[in-house]
Order: sequence, then structure tokens, then C-alpha cells
Amino acid sequence: MTNLDEYLGGRIFNAKELDLNLQQELINLGALKTKSICQVKGERLCRRCLMKLSLKPKKYDYCRYCINLGKINTSDDLLITSSDTIFPAQEVYLNWNGKLTANQQRGVHELLNAFEHHQDHLVWAVTGAGKTEMIFPLIERALINRQRIAICSPRVDVCIELFPRLQKVFPTTTIGLFHGKSLERYHLTQISVMTVHQLVRFEKAFDVLIIDEVDSYPLAGNQMLHQAIKKSRKEIGMTVYLSATPPKEILKKVELGQITLSKLYQRFHGHPLPEPHCHLLFKEIDFLGINPRLRLRFEQVMNNQLRLMIFFPSIPVMERFAKKLKQYYPNLSFVSVSSLDKRRLEKVQQFREKQVQVILTTTILERGVTFKRVMVLVLNADAKEFSKTSLIQIAGRAGRDKKYFDDEVHFYYHYYNQQIYQACKEIKYLNRQVKK
Ligand SMILES: [Zn+2]
Repeated sequence: MTNLDEYLGGRIFNAKELDLNLQQELINLGALKTKSICQVKGERLCRRCLMKLSLKPKKYDYCRYCINLGKINTSDDLLITSSDTIFPAQEVYLNWNGKLTANQQRGVHELLNAFEHHQDHLVWAVTGAGKTEMIFPLIERALINRQRIAICSPRVDVCIELFPRLQKVFPTTTIGLFHGKSLERYHLTQISVMTVHQLVRFEKAFDVLIIDEVDSYPLAGNQMLHQAIKKSRKEIGMTVYLSATPPKEILKKVELGQITLSKLYQRFHGHPLPEPHCHLLFKEIDFLGINPRLRLRFEQVMNNQLRLMIFFPSIPVMERFAKKLKQYYPNLSFVSVSSLDKRRLEKVQQFREKQVQVILTTTILERGVTFKRVMVLVLNADAKEFSKTSLIQIAGRAGRDKKYFDDEVHFYYHYYNQQIYQACKEIKYLNRQVKK
């Protein structure tokens, strides 16, 4: 028997992939069968991803933008399933005993207010402000209204961290985790945690859409993904953006009054953000091994049994450094991770469980991960891969625990450039706002 839940909920299918009986069954349940291209203001758009197709149809014409989700020829039909699901009422929705700070409570109040008015909202919260806890009451309100919620991030690691936290606090609600590599097959759930890419497969599906880390790669500047956010939400609904470093385009909308704003300058434990120490290195980090000033730092780390995150601009630089590290400090236990590493999650877990003392990483771990008591180093902080935003996020990995709020952050570079200057300036600015 077909499990219809695997199809329902505003999902977009290439009709030819579904057999005719199933198509008819879904149509009886309110699905719409439609052409894969639509005409809007004289433009030909792909109905699935809403990107512009060339005006002159070719013989074998297909949408190249969303081809990663399965090829759609312009001659294909799409089947868009119904999202008119009424979810069952539950006795208890939110099962969380944590306490919100006064600042978080203010943010929650503003979020719920925006929810009542179907108003898009930005939560601009410094790293470690506790923005995830702030969305719990919002999700609860939507669940009570029997609505459907999607929580999305451009980063799969962020989704994977978020999913068990939500399962724990909403134990009786159906929750799914969907991303390109997940083993879980899509099925209709009241809460869906997924990568932003997955939204391309939906149309008018969610009442509340929460986008975490909205400034992060690959969402930043990606037109298709921004379109996907727009079209996957129901017409009457709410989109929430969460960010510690919001992009200009969203701040512009705040300025124009299209999006309301909550600002949280303070970390949940009330201590300031660690301000980076800046170090100019005269020699390359790999010049005759590890730079003497860095060696002093490593001795400090070794002598005090400190845990350390070291960020690198690229995989080759990281790998070269890892070799030297092994040579100089054979007793130091460390792992290295990058976007290409298949064992990434496992290695991050090893570091979290203190099985290793040091983790070497590219910008892949710049956000969405929380460790207790770590010193953070950035090597080649002047490399183009480290934008102002990414340096702020990286510095935000330190001092997240109440007990160890003053973890140190060190930037090492050859040239003190604009991005380093701007990142340090913004962190100091945010700390000053709290004192006011
Ligand atoms: Zn497309």
C-alpha cells in the first residue's frame, strides 16, 4: 500500500515519476496537476524553483537551476500536493523547563506579537544569545493553532544539531529531519527541520518558516534559495530570520518596515563576547615549521591542558599544518575536519567528548556548534575565505559556557586588513551596547 504521507504537504513532484493511480489519489486529495513552466509578466519560469528559463524553447529544454533535485523538462507536468492538513490537538506541546533571560523574554514577546500579525521578523542575536530557546514558544504557539512549521538552515550541520533538541522539547509532535544526505524519507510532519535547498520541493506548504543562519553560505546571494523561502510559505503566514550577522538585504527590509526586528546584544549568561587578540606574524605559518610565536601558544595550551579550535582558510593549508603539528607535538591529540570529510560529525563528537584536545577545521565549523571551554585560534585570518561575518562567528565559538565565559580568541595574520578590523570593531560595538 502506498503511504500517502510521503507525498502530501505542498510537495512538488514530476508527474511522470508517479503512477497514474497514485496521481489520481493525490488529485482527489486536492493535488494540482500543472505544467512545469509558468508565464509571469512575459517571462518563462520553472514552476518548481521559479528561476527564469530562456525565452526561446529548445528541443530538449529543461531547468538547469534545480536539476540537482531531479531533471524537469519543460514538457513535463508537475503534481503539487495539498498542504491543507489539520494536525491533531495534543495535551502538551512544549516540554521545557529552562528559564529565559529578560532579554530572551523580550525577544519572545516580540516574536509572538509578529506571529499574531503574520509579520516577518528578524532576530538579530549575538552568538551565544540563546536564539534557539527563543523560538520554542513561537513554535508552541503555531502548534497550538494546529499549524505547520519548517525550521531551515543553509548548513546541514546546523540542522543535525537542531533536530534532537527539538525532538526533546516537543516530544509528542511529529518532527522530520530532511536533507540531501539524510536517510529519512520525506513524510508529512508538523515540524520539519531541513536544509534551505529542500524548500525548492515545496509550494505554499508552511505557516511558519524559520530560517536560521540566514547570512550563511550557500544562502547568501543565492536567488533560487531566496525564491524557495518565499514560495514554500503559505500566503498568510510568517517567516522568521535568525542571525548574529544579518545580511544587508534583510536589514534594508527592516529599515523599510517590511520586517520587524528583535535585537539581543547580550549572551544568555550575561557576559560579554570574547574580544579577539590580534597578532601579526612576520613569517608564514608554515615557514620552517610552525612559527615561534605560535609555538609559545601551543606550549601554553599543552601546559594548561586547554582545549583548542584552530581555523584555517583552506583544506591544503590545514593539512600542511596538521603534518607539522604531529611532528612538533607527537603527544598532542587532534582531529581535523572540513566540508569534504565524511567522518566530520563523528570527529566533532570526539572533540565534544574530550577524546581529543584539539580540532583543526575550515570555516565549516564557524557556526552552529557549541563546545564548553575552548580557546579559538584563526590562522591566516587575513585570507579571503575569512569574511568579517565569518570572523565574528568564529570568535563566537568561545566563551559560550557560563563558567568559562572568558575563553580566549586569537587572530594570526600577515596583514591587518579590513575584515579583521571590521570584525573586531563590531564585536567591541556589540559589547558596548550591553553596557549602555
Ligand atoms: Zn527549476
